[in-house]
Amino acid sequence: MQQLSPAGLDLISEVEAFLSNEPPVPHFGGLDERFDYLVAYQQRLNRAGLAVPGWPLSYGGRGLRPRDAAAVSRALGMGGAPELINFVGTDVVGPALIRYAPEKRLKAWLPRMAAADEIWCQLFSEPDAGSDLTNLRTSARAEGDRWRIGGQKVWSTWAQFARYGLLLARTGTQESRHRGVTAFVIEMDAPGISVQPLETMTGGAEFAEVFFDDVSIPSASVVGDVHGGWRIAQAMLNAERGPYAVRRAAVIGGTLWRVIRDSRTRDLSSDERQLVAIAFTRFRLLELRIDRLVADLEAGIEVGAETAVIKSLMTDSEQATYDLVLRLRGANAMAWSNDATGVEVEEYLYSRAASIYGGTSQIQRNLIGERLLDLPRELA
Ligand SMILES: Cc1cc2nc3c(=O)[nH]c(=O)nc-3n(C[C@H](O)[C@H](O)[C@H](O)COP(=O)(O)OP(=O)(O)OC[C@H]3O[C@@H](n4cnc5c(N)ncnc54)[C@H](O)[C@@H]3O)c2cc1C
Repeated sequence: MQQLSPAGLDLISEVEAFLSNEPPVPHFGGLDERFDYLVAYQQRLNRAGLAVPGWPLSYGGRGLRPRDAAAVSRALGMGGAPELINFVGTDVVGPALIRYAPEKRLKAWLPRMAAADEIWCQLFSEPDAGSDLTNLRTSARAEGDRWRIGGQKVWSTWAQFARYGLLLARTGTQESRHRGVTAFVIEMDAPGISVQPLETMTGGAEFAEVFFDDVSIPSASVVGDVHGGWRIAQAMLNAERGPYAVRRAAVIGGTLWRVIRDSRTRDLSSDERQLVAIAFTRFRLLELRIDRLVADLEAGIEVGAETAVIKSLMTDSEQATYDLVLRLRGANAMAWSNDATGVEVEEYLYSRAASIYGGTSQIQRNLIGERLLDLPRELA
């Protein structure tokens, strides 16, 4: 872990004080209850100045250096704090907007995003465009000073609760692939948008299908340049695979340490000991890579294709941690009830998605081969 500045050490005490005043996360009766709780939690965290500490003051942050902001995330996650409900906004969309959207819009959007007063979603994937986003077909057609949107997105996290979405739509020909794509900020209550929640195997409908039936939006909805949406998409994917990992890894680490602590009170079989060692080793590898990431961010180095390595390590670590959780909870995990073990089983099921969201593990390995190691590109 990086050396903290004296201000960074004070921040850790601040996080500990915040967490000591937080009631334990309750067991939820359903998705809406969970959603409401997590919105209120992010609001409290934001009031304490700890939701987006690395953002500038004018956007609702505290202007902390990357290493101090990372220390806050680590202290929260390791202390058992839940994930931010608006993480798609704060950790995926927000960083790209900060780079590409005008100051005036940022001042309107970002403080409310940080406070979870307005939830954001990411509208990239389509039924025939997931791994290969260049195949997307949702179209945006210019008409006077407006755009008309038609098509469908899928797997859009929290879209049913979202006030805004960052939409990728085709503005060029289908053949123009990534060169004919534009990014838009779209208000999710615009006439012609319908959202159909999709249930996952956890039992919750955390994502949704989103349909656009001739939706009319103003020309000011474009982020960056017309046909220039690909670099905004890349900025968002890099943020999700890179800096967001600091926050997510801390949540994984918090879980892993709790499980290891609990397992010290009983004899483990040799298989269980193997799983502990595997989960611990994978987490250490992730932590070390994240230390390097934070050092790069601190030095002002832009993150790029190497985020595929971080995403891969994060997936391995998350899945090994929850494999261990499930194994150590033994027969109790079979009785998937609304208690602490039930929550862990739900988290185990969610961990299976880690090798899909933000780009699948196979795609990360392709990126590592082609972009980092300069291996021949895969056959078309
Ligand atoms: C929990 C969760 C949340 C999500 N949230 C969002 C969201 O908020 N917004 C959003 O836009 N999307 C979201 N997604 C969608 C996610 O980005 C896609 O599922 C992912 O990119 C894969 O696309 P796909 O599902 O279409 O699978 P496909 O692209 O059809 O892939 C199917 C399989 O083929 C493999 N494959 C495909 N191409 C190659 C290749 N070239 N080489 C090797 N293997 C290949 C894949 O690895 C995968 O195993 C979410 C997904 C999940 C699971």
